Amino acid sequence: MRFGALEAGGTKMVCAVGTEEGGILERISIPTETPEITMPKILAYFQEKQISALGIACFGPIDLDHQSRTYGHIMMTPKLAWRKYDICGYFREKLNVPVGFDTDVNGSMLGESTWGCAKGLDTAIYITVGTGVGVGVIAGGKLLHGMQHPEAGHMLIPARADDPYKGKCPYHGHCMEGLAAGPAIEERWGAKAETLAGRPEVWELEAHYLAYAVTNYILVLSPQKIILGGGVMHQQQLLPMVREKVKEMLGGYLQTKELEDMDSYIVLPSLKDNQGIMGALKLGMEALEENH
Ligand code: ADP
Ligand code: ZN
Repeated sequence: MRFGALEAGGTKMVCAVGTEEGGILERISIPTETPEITMPKILAYFQEKQISALGIACFGPIDLDHQSRTYGHIMMTPKLAWRKYDICGYFREKLNVPVGFDTDVNGSMLGESTWGCAKGLDTAIYITVGTGVGVGVIAGGKLLHGMQHPEAGHMLIPARADDPYKGKCPYHGHCMEGLAAGPAIEERWGAKAETLAGRPEVWELEAHYLAYAVTNYILVLSPQKIILGGGVMHQQQLLPMVREKVKEMLGGYLQTKELEDMDSYIVLPSLKDNQGIMGALKLGMEALEENH
C-alpha cells in the first residue's frame, strides 16, 4: 500500500509518497503561493500516485475540532491567502481518499514517536525553534489535542533583567516565540540568527529562554523525552547549554532516571529532517485505519 504525505509549510509544500514502514519512495517540493496556484499542483502530483490515504502536517493555527464546521481549515494565519482555507476538504473531495490532518509540529512529533527517538514512549514533546516556536505533544501514546492543539510556543515568559528587547509576538510581546524564535533573535541583535554563531552572548540568552520553557514543559507534562528541532537548533553550542540550564532551573526538585542522563533526555531530532514528512505519512495511515 502507498500513502501520500504532505508537509504544508509557509514557504514550501513537501509532497511525498511512502510505505507503511515509513519509507519515503519519492518526494517533490512546491513553493507556497496562493491556494489557487499551489493546490492544483499538489493535487496533480498525488492524483497519479494511487495512494490509499493522504496525511497532512500543516502550518497553523488549524481547526482540529471534529465537531466544528470549519474542521480541516487553516485559521488565523498571517498568510492571508490561506486564512479560512479548507485544505483538508479540497483533497478529500478531489482525491476521494481518507485524509489525516494535524499541525506541522505534531507531525514531527508523530514521526519521531512512530519511527524515531521517541518510539514507544507514553509522553514526549517536540519543540521546533524556527520562524516561530511550535510544540507537539504525545501523551498516553497519542498526539494531544484538547480543544484544538497545544500552543505552547506562545507560553508566556518574563524577559530576563538584562534583556531590554520588547518581544516580537503581536499577541503577547514576551512569549516563547516572541523572545526566542529566529525573527526575534534577528531583531534583538540586528543580524540574521545564522550569522551570529561567533557571538556567545546571543546563545547564552537563547539557551536561557529555551531552558525556561523546557523546564515548564517538564513540570506540566512530565515528558520522557524532549526533542528540539528547527533552524535555530542548528547552532550546535545551544543544546548543551539548554541541558545545563534546565538542570539548574529544576533546582534538584525532580529526580528521575531520565533527568540523570540529560544527553539522551533533551535531544535533536533523529530522523535526518524526515520527521515531518514521515509524521504526515503516519497521519495518512491513521486516517485509513479510522475509515475502516
Ligand atoms: P521554518 O520555521 O520557516 O519552517 P526553519 O526551521 O529553517 O524554517 O527556521 C527558520 C529560522 O531559523 C530563521 O529565522 C533563521 O534565521 C533561523 N536559522 C536557520 N538556520 C540557522 C542557523 N544555522 N543558525 C541559527 N538560526 C538559523
Ligand atoms: Zn505569543
